[in-house]
Amino acid sequence: MIPVVALVGRPNVGKSTLFNRITRSRDALVANIPGLTRDRHYAKTQWEGQPFLVVDTGGFEPVVDTGIVAEMAKQTRQAIAESDVVVFLTDARTGLAPQDQHIAAYLRRTGKPVLLAVNKAEGLPPTAMAEFHELGLGQPLAVSAAHGSGVGSLLDDITALLRPEAEPAHEEAVDSGGASDPVAGEAEVLSAATARVIKLAIVGRPNVGKSTLVNALVGEERVIAFDQPGTTRDAIEVPFERDGVEYVLIDTAGLRRKGKVFETIEKFSVLKTLQAIESANVVVLLLDASEGVSDQDAHIAGFAVESGRAVVVAANKWDKVDAYQRQLFTNSLNERLPFLSFARQHEISALSRKGLGAVLKSVNEAYKAAFTKLSTPRLTRALQEAVAFQQPPRAGTVRPKLRYAHQGGQNPPVIVIHGNALDRVPNSYTRYLESRFSKVFKLSGTPLRVEYRSSH
Ligand code: GDP
Ligand code: GDP
Repeated sequence: MIPVVALVGRPNVGKSTLFNRITRSRDALVANIPGLTRDRHYAKTQWEGQPFLVVDTGGFEPVVDTGIVAEMAKQTRQAIAESDVVVFLTDARTGLAPQDQHIAAYLRRTGKPVLLAVNKAEGLPPTAMAEFHELGLGQPLAVSAAHGSGVGSLLDDITALLRPEAEPAHEEAVDSGGASDPVAGEAEVLSAATARVIKLAIVGRPNVGKSTLVNALVGEERVIAFDQPGTTRDAIEVPFERDGVEYVLIDTAGLRRKGKVFETIEKFSVLKTLQAIESANVVVLLLDASEGVSDQDAHIAGFAVESGRAVVVAANKWDKVDAYQRQLFTNSLNERLPFLSFARQHEISALSRKGLGAVLKSVNEAYKAAFTKLSTPRLTRALQEAVAFQQPPRAGTVRPKLRYAHQGGQNPPVIVIHGNALDRVPNSYTRYLESRFSKVFKLSGTPLRVEYRSSH
């Protein structure tokens, strides 16, 4: 599962500035999706090929135990518990504060790998770092979130901690020479075999009916195996089969097996939900039709789209809503999740097991669409037809020239367009191409990405 990095520190040390700097490259992409709501505290990013989730924790007051500050501290502790690496940010301008000592003591007790970064260090002498040694968290790293200095080194340190085995594995491979080849071959065969199993994440906020749905889907079926000891900490995967199609349900927000049934016994975890979305091929976004679409629903949906996952929307508890509530729900769905228009929508009742077959059918279709293979001649023909129907607008004296297209990826399908002056293609035209490709190739249920490679 995708690892998690938590940014921790007292207020005003520059956590959100650092968060924005680390995740900024994502924003350009996201700006292309109209109506997308995101929780600004979570983002996926990558450094030198290593992807990870970053969480910007709110405040951190380890000693307060009531009110909103305590709630923030609780969420921060949960984020720390669920993270793989903690970046503890301090402030060179204010110097070492008593609260930094409290946070450091807490972090040491968690036993998590901690990187100590001293922010706002631009223009300060190295001696300004000296007092931070007192925290007992190793060498403080001078950074400037606002200006960018030191952030590259920090990211190097983060990724080094996220792949601790990388170094020895490399040495072994060198030592054993050709012996590493069969291993690589085996890994490829395995991934080809598992590709036929649809990885499914059922996500939604607390009480929408996730565990009811999981039990309804898995309960009647022969469950092939339970609690596979996976590579990740306490992630469970539940394989099941329906109408000859194999699925693996990926644990989301604390879904746990109790005897033969599943329960959501743990409190809701945004991070686990995001990790499950990242690991899945298809996401079923479960909504509560009796309550409408909330901010939290919109954030989860936004993350699924941003991750490029295929999505099926299921409005649950349809059995208990009247005509008026149905109308309200449909309105809120269209208004709050316009970026999910590519996804099939279903009205279901997990409790009375209504509509579940239709959901799985859409899951299968979305999976097929997400893994479609499109040849260069077919794509290029579709591109030429799209351009013939509507040309990209002239930008000043130049008109972008779209020459040919090839497929650059799956799940989501990525269509790479080659030509000239492609950096002048406006977002609106990219969206036109995306919706046109989606229709021509019948890619229902999956988002689609268009990328450009300009010759000059
Ligand atoms: P947070 O409360 O920890 O999320 O802190 P913010 O990111 O909101 O930053 C608090 C203040 O510190 C803002 O006014 C930032 O502009 C400022 N700040 C953040 N990073 C730096 C930095 O590297 N250098 C300087 N001089 N100021 C910074
Ligand atoms: P989770 O927190 O998302 O796993 O939600 P649960 O599966 O625990 O369900 C929360 C509550 O909603 C429980 O009381 C369920 O019985 C109820 N529930 C779940 N699905 C339905 C449904 O389709 N119709 C109705 N009326 N209630 C449902």
